[in-house]
Amino acid sequence: MTALMLESFAAGRWVGPGSQARTIASAVTGDAVAMAGSDLDYQAMLDHARTVGGPNLRAMTFHDRARMLKALATWLGERKAKLYELSLHAGCTKADSWIDIDGGIGTVFVFASKGRREMPDGHVYVDGAVEQLSRNGTFIGQHIATPLQGAAVHINAFNFPVWGMLEKLAPALLAGVPAIVKPATATSYVAEACFRMMIESGILPDGAVQFIAGGTGDLLDRLTPQDVVSFTGSAATALMLRSNPHILRHSIRFIAEQDSLNASILGPDATPGTPEFDLFVKEVVKEMTAKAGQKCTAIRRIIAPKPVEADLIDAIRAKLSKTVIGDPALEGVRMGPLASQAQVRDVLEKVARIGTEAECVHGDPAAFDVEGADAEKGAFVPPMLFRCADPAGASAVHETEAFGPVSTVMAYDTLDDAVALANRGGGSLVMSLITHDPAVARQVAIGAGAWHGRIYVNDRDSMGESTGHGSPLPHMTHGGPGRAGGGEEMGGVRGVMHYMQRTAVQGGPDMLTAITGMFVPGSRTVETDTHPFRRYFEDLAIGDTLRTSSRTVTMEDIEHFAHFTGDTFYAHMDEEAAKANPFFPGRVAHGYLLLSFAAGLFVDPAPGPVLANVGLEGLSFQKPVSAGDSIRVALTVKRKTKRTDTYGEVRWHVVLTNQDDETVATYELHTMNAYRDVT
Ligand code: NAP
Repeated sequence: MTALMLESFAAGRWVGPGSQARTIASAVTGDAVAMAGSDLDYQAMLDHARTVGGPNLRAMTFHDRARMLKALATWLGERKAKLYELSLHAGCTKADSWIDIDGGIGTVFVFASKGRREMPDGHVYVDGAVEQLSRNGTFIGQHIATPLQGAAVHINAFNFPVWGMLEKLAPALLAGVPAIVKPATATSYVAEACFRMMIESGILPDGAVQFIAGGTGDLLDRLTPQDVVSFTGSAATALMLRSNPHILRHSIRFIAEQDSLNASILGPDATPGTPEFDLFVKEVVKEMTAKAGQKCTAIRRIIAPKPVEADLIDAIRAKLSKTVIGDPALEGVRMGPLASQAQVRDVLEKVARIGTEAECVHGDPAAFDVEGADAEKGAFVPPMLFRCADPAGASAVHETEAFGPVSTVMAYDTLDDAVALANRGGGSLVMSLITHDPAVARQVAIGAGAWHGRIYVNDRDSMGESTGHGSPLPHMTHGGPGRAGGGEEMGGVRGVMHYMQRTAVQGGPDMLTAITGMFVPGSRTVETDTHPFRRYFEDLAIGDTLRTSSRTVTMEDIEHFAHFTGDTFYAHMDEEAAKANPFFPGRVAHGYLLLSFAAGLFVDPAPGPVLANVGLEGLSFQKPVSAGDSIRVALTVKRKTKRTDTYGEVRWHVVLTNQDDETVATYELHTMNAYRDVT
């Protein structure tokens, strides 16, 4: 193929390779695949993000942006075949590309869905509950989050050109922050193709995304405290970039996802012959060979009970011997080359370092078979397994990340020893534990949690549906302490928060209702002439309230409800026993009876805009109700969220009070209400 001329996308236009362009070689054949490196005006890019992209994105609500992400993921999904094709040059088998391409698109879908389910259809994200800061509730507190007003600079690693770009873009765009993407040069032709599809879709507003094919020049020196750098790559590059004095001086957010010496522990119960032993071997071999071991989450240290060490090594070696290495385009090839010759040199240098403390028990980089490709021209290495006889006394095996199909077996005596070895990674992205014993899982999680961003426990019961040691999931946080960079990404809304500022707002209830767009108890309410159940979604305003008449609860009601439902709990039926209970003055009404009476008081029965009651949240019973007490209800519109083309969700703040105006119960009721104007 003729080499692709990769373009950057800066301030709304494509810019071709410039004076600093360099050639990128195919990992399989060594032939030139692309040229990358543009001369760019970085200040103009930042200005474009700040003055065009940011305002465009912030004019949209969280739900608008979530819908945009869904459309984008759908668009990319329909065009992904082209990305699979290009990915072959990076040495990826179909399975490797699936992790990168479908994994990346799937991540965008998850953020799109979480944005609509867990964030408001507004501009302010409410973080946690209202804090009562005063006796009478006239001065209260609420944490909110709003999007940063700068740009997100995403610097990505070479191993996942699509997933790496999309897993950072999805939360930034959902937050409302424009991004400048800088992929690793080695595989930037795959990232550029994906990025080009995004621009061609026309789905993103102007300025929302820009792309750098090549270096970042002095971009980082031009950032402000409203910008964020999210970096994925080696610890050495992270250290260099994050210690930039400009970044330090201005407290510019810097998220680092760097390399990690991830461990996998085989539980003491998982002896040969158990499903867990076989599962462990399978996961280890998969992690060594998927993406030719070029995964930040790959298992680098295999920690096994001493009595089974020899059996384990035999089992892993047997599987590794069957791994066909070669041209990833060929059917039957299980492991492709590394991404570049530079990676081969790097891996072999690290392997030599590991070799000073561990013996190689499988894989010789000077003698191995390669299917359908020239072993000299392509960036091929075999899987290499080491055994370290004295892991407690060793250091290189715990510190050296050979970013390829390389892993070291180390044996332990006690489970505490195993945990101590896992923690020697100095902070890791993930550790796994294969055990069928919940007590082992508990001991390991407590001992190793502080050193790990993620703990993956698997056994015969979960293996059918488990997602694999190496797969970060958009729902769960990805990142780890110490050596792993100290950063965190994804984890649903947690990942979106990295691009927002959390602000503690203090003031009166009316102020907080106006700021959050959500009714805060204590703020002004409005009683309208028409019953709220007779009003369409559009016609309900935050704070609209219905105050019902009251109803007296009788002992007959309590008896009837008890026998009708079968709930004859002593607190409702037995005066003596109820009195003996510290919570009750004597027989009291069932909480569910009160809820039912409340519904009877506030519903307007005829068919109308209210379509369904879909649930309630935060129910709390605060004062018992005895026979003779009377209750009434205040129902207030708390929050409205459009859900479909025909109806939206209304959340109601419901308060039940007694004849003395004391609060008996509170909860949030959720209904679906029809729109007046169906579009
Ligand atoms: P790298 O060499 O550190 O490069 C990472 C990124 O930094 C690339 O985009 C690179 O661009 C860029 N970069 C390098 N020098 C720079 C500079 N002076 N200014 C601005 N950008 C600069 O890492 P890599 O080789 O691509 O990736 C492999 C490493 O990433 C492994 O150690 C792996 O463990 C780690 N990784 C971590 C995670 C994670 O989530 N924690 C995920 C994947 C990979 P160029 O390519 O243009 O030099």
